[in-house]
Amino acid sequence: DSGLYIVATPIGNLADMSQRAIEMLRAADLIAVEDSRVTGKLLHHLGLKKRMRPYHDHSSDADREALLAAAREGVVVLVSDAGTPLISDPGYKLVRAAREAGIPVSTAPGASAVVTALSISGLPTDRFLFAGFLPSKAKARADVIAEIGNVKSTLVFYESGPRLGVTLAALAEQLGAREAVVARELTKKFEEVVSGTLPELAERYAEAEPKGEIVLIVGPPGEVQAEQGDYEGALKVALETLPP
Ligand code: SAM
Repeated sequence: DSGLYIVATPIGNLADMSQRAIEMLRAADLIAVEDSRVTGKLLHHLGLKKRMRPYHDHSSDADREALLAAAREGVVVLVSDAGTPLISDPGYKLVRAAREAGIPVSTAPGASAVVTALSISGLPTDRFLFAGFLPSKAKARADVIAEIGNVKSTLVFYESGPRLGVTLAALAEQLGAREAVVARELTKKFEEVVSGTLPELAERYAEAEPKGEIVLIVGPPGEVQAEQGDYEGALKVALETLPP
């Protein structure tokens, strides 16, 4: 079947590649990739040899048109280096253009670091705001933190080792002692999940520059926690005043 297929790849552990993802790669006439070396290794591991073509969101309209033309005739698969395409990765403009052109778009879903980290963080997951990478310039970063800091949601960021300390310090300064989690190297040999308040984590990572890939999660603002506290208090009172 012709069309554009968005295929998730593992975020570190090759065994997380789904059967459907493998089948879609096998069926592909053309694979749009971020980095042909990275995807080349995955294809080699799967025993597949496929035509690849680089794709980024700054690719030209002509590049997108070429991929759409191929998706009208055959199976075009979009992958990123790791995880789910479009999630802090290229693909948004391509999917939009394909849908506008009436080309079928489907997916083999799989790992994404944001959901993986949330699922083992122990922080509330009923509402979360994924904010991708914070800007690296101090003013722009402070503006974003101010903009989303009071949203009554858990906040999720992607981060790198060298920037983690600075980011935690900025979050601690603006958001105070909220609970947070640093989730590192998920699904890999050195997977680690560290919990603490923002100031505690800022201190811990002030000097240490952890290696590998990181998701940083910040719990919701106090009001939400206070509401939960009040609820528990109210429940206790209600139970105590129940008739025997
Ligand atoms: N599309 C990917 C996804 O679905 O998760 C994310 C791509 S983004 C360019 C890469 C960032 O994702 C890394 O810098 C890190 O913040 C996060 N990430 C990816 N793999 C990870 C892992 N195994 N453990 C922790 N964070 C990871």
